Amino acid sequence: MTKKKTLLALLAATMVLAAGCSNASNNNGEAGNGGNAGADNGGGDKPKIGVAIYKFDDTFMSGVRAAIADAAKDKAEMDIVDSQNSQPEQNNKVDLFITKKYKAIAVNPVDRTAAGVIIDKAKAANIPVVFLNREPMADDMKKWDKVYYVGAKAEQSGTMEGQLVVDYFKAHPEADKNKDGVVQYVMLQGEPGHQDAELRTQFSIQAITDAGMKVEKLAEDTAMWDRVKAQDKMASFLAAHGDKIEVVITNNDDMALGAIEALKAKGYFKDNKYMPVVGVDATAPALQALQDGTLLGTVLNDAKNQGAATTALAAVLAKGETPSKENTGYDITDGKYVWINYKAITKDNIAEAQ
Ligand code: BGC
Repeated sequence: MTKKKTLLALLAATMVLAAGCSNASNNNGEAGNGGNAGADNGGGDKPKIGVAIYKFDDTFMSGVRAAIADAAKDKAEMDIVDSQNSQPEQNNKVDLFITKKYKAIAVNPVDRTAAGVIIDKAKAANIPVVFLNREPMADDMKKWDKVYYVGAKAEQSGTMEGQLVVDYFKAHPEADKNKDGVVQYVMLQGEPGHQDAELRTQFSIQAITDAGMKVEKLAEDTAMWDRVKAQDKMASFLAAHGDKIEVVITNNDDMALGAIEALKAKGYFKDNKYMPVVGVDATAPALQALQDGTLLGTVLNDAKNQGAATTALAAVLAKGETPSKENTGYDITDGKYVWINYKAITKDNIAEAQ
């Protein structure tokens, strides 16, 4: 334990030294986009911005990551790093950004309740922070005026997802398999504590009951946003409830796709055996599933605009300016928030997500 700590301290010290004294050889394999060597933010060079993603191995965040890099091309030099789903790891990455004197930082928190600590560090170093995708608590957001959040209203995606189920049951009375006038559902949830997991779960069901339909929850469990975990959970739901299940609601497309795999293994999606499955994100594989007729519907979680807005805000902040509609192209709500709209997607309007 202590040995490990000593090693880590040594490593950190080496990194500080390396960052501090080698302006000439600054080309250390960062995910920048072709900026010149030189000081971390020399003269007319593009400003350097550090971006810490909660983990690279997340389908939706991979899209956001690509959009961040793409939007940065002529604006900033991005150092995008993988926090490997570990908050201590992410804190180390942020420390490194600060040591390197980057002009702005963007953070997709591993644990959104850890945002407060990150804000304290950034404030002490006077480096503005843009959070994305995982919304910090309101009290933390208020800690400093150079703190922003780019995201989407989780409740909106939940409502839209529930509406997809309502539309389907209204158009297909046979979807009420046991004819009891109640929608028997199973729910696959994202990570506990994530606003999108909590609110999509709540608001999808609320949209169904608001439409005057009764619901019965047969099963609900977290599959941590993950396709393979969702396939396992869905297999157990099927083992326990089989044909009683009338609809599968999931907090994201990867889990919807996992559920579809489990359903296929039980003979669904052929010989007139069907199960409505809904998700959120409109990722490329999900759009393929819509096309194939296995996924009933999804909600576009606009990775492109979330990434572009993150870059726009961070680039403006890196120049020492205050983000506005004029200099970012995005509306800033309450002086801190950029909200990107969701959109319901079915086979009928698939082109709007492509
Ligand atoms: C997306 C999920 C993703 C999560 C990561 C959500 O907004 O819908 O697919 O895994 O963000 O934080």
